[in-house]
Amino acid sequence: MFNAHKTLIAAATLTLAGFCATPLAAESPAAAELVLLGVAGGPTWYGDASPHGISSAVLVNGRAYIVDLGSGAYRQLRRAGVKPGTEQAVFLTHLHTDHIIDLANLLMYDPSARRRAKASMQIYGPGRRGVLPPLAPGMKDDVVVHAENPSAGTRDLVESVVAGMSADLNIRVRSEGVPDIRQFFKAHDIAVPAGVVKDPNTDPAPPMEPFPVWQDERVKVSAILVPHGLVYPNFAYRFDTAAGSVVFSGDTAVSENLIKLARGADVLVHEAIDPAWVDHIVGAKPWDARQQALAHQLLEAHTTPQEVGEVATRAGVGTLVLSHLVPGDAPAEHWLQARRTFQGPVVLGQDLLRLPLRGQPKP
Ligand SMILES: [Zn+2]
Ligand SMILES: [Zn+2]
Repeated sequence: MFNAHKTLIAAATLTLAGFCATPLAAESPAAAELVLLGVAGGPTWYGDASPHGISSAVLVNGRAYIVDLGSGAYRQLRRAGVKPGTEQAVFLTHLHTDHIIDLANLLMYDPSARRRAKASMQIYGPGRRGVLPPLAPGMKDDVVVHAENPSAGTRDLVESVVAGMSADLNIRVRSEGVPDIRQFFKAHDIAVPAGVVKDPNTDPAPPMEPFPVWQDERVKVSAILVPHGLVYPNFAYRFDTAAGSVVFSGDTAVSENLIKLARGADVLVHEAIDPAWVDHIVGAKPWDARQQALAHQLLEAHTTPQEVGEVATRAGVGTLVLSHLVPGDAPAEHWLQARRTFQGPVVLGQDLLRLPLRGQPKP
């Protein structure tokens, strides 16, 4: 049932009517473009036809701004025509492994090309959670992984990747004259505005205003907290460029904060979970308490296609793009339920799909 990738691709191509889905050509100097590098959600292998893990890029005037680094993201960046050293910044929505597993590739590869390009890539993402979530009802074993720092943030993550590769890095700088890769990137924990969150275990994404994370001559990036089960901090991002705006939901349940962030955006890239798949993995009904808890846990952390359409309608966005598809091999018609609740163009995400950002210049 969930192995219909060819159908999905065919339908995705059909949904592109009205868009310039360009091949992998280099962008024109004034272009601002969304590229989906990978559209599968979850740390799961969906079979040989699986899309790559979740990752997207906004390309503006020859620079790449990357959102999340799921499985295969590094290779997909190169296939999309992004050259080593042109990655301006990375924005991690949250630290679930399906969003960061390709970070090591991006940090370690192409050191000589990065030196020639005088690269300086900034990596932004959540800081430390600060407090562990409580044990679920009925659980007894209080297992803590890496008790010295059990809720590592983005800076911790980048430092530990470099530390874990020290044997290789120190050999290469000595024997081959390969540059010290640490000069090519810098990690930053995004500070959540003071006073917004009282307790991440009870309300990890309370109502708030979007806040600025990045600004340069090409793009302004702002963030807001969105709810994703027990994950905290967990961000959605908005990119405003002279050519148009695009919002990435990250992983989220239906979120008033996300609707606020996405208000009037040209493109909304939103995650989706297929409720038929939840039924499939939870098992035959009637559900016992454990099964009900599992279904609730999946559905409360994500958004169904029909709900995604409602979100897009309420936010008043121009075009809706579905990405972070869970599962990665569901039939296209399941995702396109979003068309029942959103009247604008709905694009079913696929790897290496490109969309120009159109729209009115933003102040
Ligand atoms: Zn995810
Ligand atoms: Zn997640």
